[in-house]
Amino acid sequence: MDGAGIRIGAAEPYSALHAACAGDTDFAPFAHYLARLGSRQIRAMGTVGGNLGTASPIGDALPILLALDAVVETSARDMPVAEFLLDYRRNALAADEIIAAIRLPRPAPGALLVAEKLSRRHDQDISAVAMVACVEFAGGVVARARIAFGGMAATTRRATGAEAALTGRALTRETAREAAAALDFTPLSDWRGSAEWRMAAARGLVERLWLRHAHPEMPADVFAVPA
Ligand SMILES: Cc1cc2nc3c(=O)[nH]c(=O)nc-3n(C[C@H](O)[C@H](O)[C@H](O)COP(=O)(O)OP(=O)(O)OC[C@H]3O[C@@H](n4cnc5c(N)ncnc54)[C@H](O)[C@@H]3O)c2cc1C
Repeated sequence: MDGAGIRIGAAEPYSALHAACAGDTDFAPFAHYLARLGSRQIRAMGTVGGNLGTASPIGDALPILLALDAVVETSARDMPVAEFLLDYRRNALAADEIIAAIRLPRPAPGALLVAEKLSRRHDQDISAVAMVACVEFAGGVVARARIAFGGMAATTRRATGAEAALTGRALTRETAREAAAALDFTPLSDWRGSAEWRMAAARGLVERLWLRHAHPEMPADVFAVPA
C-alpha cells in the first residue's frame, strides 16, 4: 500500500485484501463487501490470483478490480484487468504465464465508491448480482463513472451504457434513473435469480448510487430504500 494504491500478491488470501482496504480510508468502502466473500475459511484460503484465474462471472473480487481499472502483473507483462477477463471462465493468460500480483490504483480524491452484493443468503453465499462503482466528480458533475457488475454477463463487465448516461451530468435521482435504464446487459436465468430479477436488481443498484452520493452516512447494508 502506498500513494499509488494497493499492490497485492496473487497468492495472498482475500483476508489480506480485506485488511488492506479496511486499513486505508480511500479503499475502506470495499471492506464491508469483501467481508461477505465466502466464509472466514474461504477468505483465509482463497486468493485474489485464484479469483482472477477462475474468471468466473461471479468472482466477488473482480468487480472491484474492474471498477478501479486494476492492473494484472503476470510473469510476462502488465495488463488492464478488462483485457485479462476474456469470456466465461476464460482469461488472457498464455499457457506458460502466471499471475504475479494485482495493482489497485488509488481512487481520485472525493470519488464515490460503492460496493453492493446481492445473494440469496446475506453471508457465506456467492453473488447473484454484484456491483462496484467508482464515480469521480469535477465541478459538481460526474467526470468519470466506472460501474462494474458481476452476475450480469458471461464475465464481470462494466456497464458502459449506464456510465455514459451519468458522465458530464450531476448525480441526481433523475440521472441515476436514466443510467439505470441504460444498463446494457442480457443476463442469464439460473437458480440464483431469473434474468428479469437480475435486471431489476441491477437497475435498483444503479439508481441507489444517487442516494449513496447524497447520504454518505447511509450504512453499507440497506434493506429498504425510501420511495
Ligand atoms: C464454500 C465456498 C464459498 C465460496 N464463496 C465465494 C464467494 O462468496 N465469492 C467468491 O468470489 N468466491 C467464492 N468462492 C470461490 C473461491 O473464492 C474460489 O475458491 C477462488 O476464486 C479460487 O481461489 P483459489 O485461491 O482457491 O484458486 P485455485 O482454486 O487454486 O485456482 C483457481 C484457478 O485460478 C488459477 N490460478 C490460481 N492462481 C493463479 C496464478 N497465480 N496465476 C495463474 N493462474 C492461477 C488456477 O490454475 C485455477 O484455474 C467460494 C468457494 C467455496 C468453496
